[in-house]
Parts: sequence; C-alpha cells; structure tokens
Amino acid sequence: MGFVIEVNQLTKRYGGKTAVDNLSFTVRPGHVTGFLGPNGAGKSTTLRMILGLDAPTAGTATVSGVPFRSHPRGLRHVGALLDAQQVHGGRSAASHLSALAVSNGIPRRRVAEVLHEVGLTDVARRRIGGFSLGMKQRLGIATALLGDPPVLIFDEPINGMDPEGVRWVRHLFRRLAAEGRTVFLSSHLMSEMENTADELVVIGQGRLIAAEPLHSFAARSSRIGVVVRTPQSAELVAVLTAAGATVEPDAERLTVTGLPAERIGTLAFDNRILLHELTTRTASLEEAFMRLTADSVEYLAGQPR
Ligand code: ADP
Repeated sequence: MGFVIEVNQLTKRYGGKTAVDNLSFTVRPGHVTGFLGPNGAGKSTTLRMILGLDAPTAGTATVSGVPFRSHPRGLRHVGALLDAQQVHGGRSAASHLSALAVSNGIPRRRVAEVLHEVGLTDVARRRIGGFSLGMKQRLGIATALLGDPPVLIFDEPINGMDPEGVRWVRHLFRRLAAEGRTVFLSSHLMSEMENTADELVVIGQGRLIAAEPLHSFAARSSRIGVVVRTPQSAELVAVLTAAGATVEPDAERLTVTGLPAERIGTLAFDNRILLHELTTRTASLEEAFMRLTADSVEYLAGQPR
C-alpha cells in the first residue's frame, strides 16, 4: 500500500458548525494531489486531522495505515507546512532548522541541504522576523523536507510567492512526486493547481465534490457551449429547444449547450434565421471549479449570503 493518506468518513464539528462532513478520499504516492476548495471549505481542518493536531468528531485519517500521532518517526515520516507565519521571528533560519533536526534525530547536514534546496543559503543567518511571506514559505518547505519524508503535506504553499517562486515550487513538487513521494497540497485557487497537480480532491462546505485525475475533472466539467448572436432570438430559441438544446439568454447573446455549432448553423439556415455570431467556447478549469463550488461558498465578496 505504500505511503498512502487515507481519509475515511471524516467529520469535524465545532459547536453547531460542521467544518468537515463525512469526507472520504485517498492520496497516493507518486503524484502531486491538489486539495481544492473555496475559503472555509474545510481544507485546513482536514489537514490538521490528518496530522493529528485536531481530533475528528467521527471517522478516521491515517498515513500508511496508522493515525499520524502513533508514528514514532515524526518529521522523518511526514513533512508538513500548515502556516508559514508560525515561526519564531527572533531565530535565524539555520538555528530554527538545527533545533528541529536535533529534536527529531535528523543528521545536522540536512540543514545545509534543505536550505540550499529552497534557495535560502544566503540568508540562513538572518532573523526569520525580517523574511517576506515568500521566504517564510520557502523556510516552511525546508522544514517539511528536513527529515527526507515520503509524505509531504502543504497548506496553501503557493500563497504569497512571486512568479519566480511559483515556478520553482511547482518544479520542486513535481520532482518530489516523481521520486515516489506522496505530495498533498491545498489551495483555494484552481489556477495554482492546474499546472502543478495531476490528481485533485475538491471539497465544498466540508463535503467531497470530486476526487479524480485533473484531466478527467477537466474533461468532465469544462462544459462546451456555443455562443450565438441573432436578431431573431425568439425564433432561434424555439428551433434549438425543439431540437433538444438548452439555451441560456444573456443580453443579446444566447449560450447553447447540447448541440454542436455545425448543427446550430444548419438549423438556423433551414429556418431562415440570420446569425451574427456562432462561437464554440470551452469553460476554463477555473470557471468549472467556480461553478462546481459556487453553492458551497460561505461568503461571496465578503457578504454573508
Ligand atoms: P479552509 O482551510 O478550507 O479555508 P477551514 O478548515 O479553515 O477551511 O475552516 C472550515 C470551517 O470551519 C470554517 O467555517 C471555519 O470558520 C470553521 N472553523 C475552523 N476552525 C475552527 C475552530 N477552531 N473553531 C470554530 N470553527 C472553526
């Protein structure tokens, strides 16, 4: 079975609020798995339960078949970054990592190795308090890598990184997965995951929406529609609806699903309906994700619904 993260009917309630609701999924080695959901969907709560930092109300979360808390090897088994800001600002990056290496029985040489890996060698002696968020993210990733673990868990690791950092971190995650590790990353943005992850777990309001390869999620959810513009829209709607299409009017344009552009053009021609535009369009992965999770967003533009 290897180093699999297994979440089984996991539930977490805070008072009357259900943060994670009967969630089940599996994260396998050799892949970068993106854990996606809008803010408040329950991602951090799930990750904390996987790491044994929060107790489930019901259900289980295991890493390689056992609850993380009962793993004697700690950092050498699972490396995690939950909140890059949670570091002691008065320490240097090198002393922070050295202290962790000592307390986890990890060889000291790993400190220099991981600092090099994340590009922080030059600032290793500087106080962490003066680090940018992007640098703190790099330090958090170094911390996770310190024990050379087969399982890596990161909460919003791309948040706050500059474009160069984003490219670097994507490359790193893919390499770690190619080495056979289990890499699990959360994000509230599909755009961050679509060039990084090859597997997806999508949640909304604590519930599972999808767990599948990114390409099949894309194929299933990026619905193809045809945009049509016509001065005879009432007639065209009647013709297309009779032919089995679904038509959504939007200002002077119609968005048609269920019929290809060629068929729509032919039907219009046969019925002497003039067309000013006929365009096939594919929803972006980001749009598909937004649509799938729209019902589960707690707050839209800061407004309680
Ligand atoms: P995400 O990481 O997807 O943004 P979270 O797991 O942080 O989501 O939060 C899920 C829900 O649980 C939110 O509604 C949040 O307000 C609530 N929540 C998280 N932690 C606590 C807590 N300690 N006490 C009460 N409610 C919490």
